[in-house]
Amino acid sequence: MEIKELPLPEDKRKNRFTDESKLGFGRIFTDRMLMIEWKADQGWVDARIQPYAPFVLDPSSLVFHYAQEIFEGLKAYRWADGSIALFRPEINAHRFNLSADRLCMPRLPEDLFIEGISRLIRLEKEWVPGAEGTSLYIRPTMIAVEPVLGVKASDHYYFYVILSPVGAYYAAGFDPVKILVEDYYVRSVPGGTGEAKTGGNYAASLKAAQEAKKKGFDQVLWLDGIHKKYIEEVGSMNMFFVYDDHVATAPLTGSILKGVTRDSVMQLAGRLGFNIRERQVTIDDLVADIRAGKVKEAFGSGTAAVITPVGLLGYKGENLTVGDGGVGKLTQKLYDTLTGIQYGKLEDSYGWVRKIA
Ligand SMILES: *Cc1c(COP(=O)(O)O)cnc(C)c1O
Repeated sequence: MEIKELPLPEDKRKNRFTDESKLGFGRIFTDRMLMIEWKADQGWVDARIQPYAPFVLDPSSLVFHYAQEIFEGLKAYRWADGSIALFRPEINAHRFNLSADRLCMPRLPEDLFIEGISRLIRLEKEWVPGAEGTSLYIRPTMIAVEPVLGVKASDHYYFYVILSPVGAYYAAGFDPVKILVEDYYVRSVPGGTGEAKTGGNYAASLKAAQEAKKKGFDQVLWLDGIHKKYIEEVGSMNMFFVYDDHVATAPLTGSILKGVTRDSVMQLAGRLGFNIRERQVTIDDLVADIRAGKVKEAFGSGTAAVITPVGLLGYKGENLTVGDGGVGKLTQKLYDTLTGIQYGKLEDSYGWVRKIA
């Protein structure tokens, strides 16, 4: 499918950031966006790269009422030689379609997803920051825009991609987070939408996150929605617990998100000689194991922060320090290796990086 490039008028050009140390996350957007529409009687039509601009949508548009929406999150990395690379974008393209299936939305050809993003970034390449740890965050999204107040799958969708230059997550060094185990609210249940990257999951998680913040925690660790017993994941990260003889992570039972970083971590840790076990860990066992000093490290994995060390776990009023509360050896090693590959400093023997400029 042809992707049209619409002109960018002079008055639509933004002032680019000057200080890459002050970028933060997701507040600055580039000059252009990718846009493709889907109509029930025509399929995918009118692919175009256009100036970044607000939408004019009918207030009755389905997305506003029944949350028919999915998204993705990936990054473009500026290498020391000035070139730009994506990291395993084919997995995001594929996962986007799995989310689309779950939400009764149309599938987007996966090569169009990658080609559209690559073309957009090539046009916006000056927006890819170059300072240590910075990147261009890519947010593909699909929303239902049919104007009707009926609970149904839309007959009209917008697929669009916006870009946001983002700062180094750990500009001030690795900082272990405090996580509260949530034993009342649930994020997802078997048969629900936990495996899809859809906004509704996040809307449903806000209450627990707010209450955890009030108690001084950074994020929430979700338990399974039926028994509230098995460890699932954190906010927007998959979780790993490092024991003496293995590394445990929750299996993909359908209620957790299948992270690209999770998969990469599993492959890297395996090659480093660690025995990765996808197994259901109960919260009671985890608490007992932390108390007994058997859990050496805990960390989360996700595109935004890559690897996040967990220093403390709160559960039923008690605070448990994981390991020595600092950054574990494997945590640090995985962070260094993964970012090393993403920024082209380490050899990519997996074929994970894709140069686009
Ligand atoms: C996006 C996301 C993750 C992390 O996935 P990555 O592909 O590694 O970025 C984990 N959990 C949830 C709920 C997510 O939405």
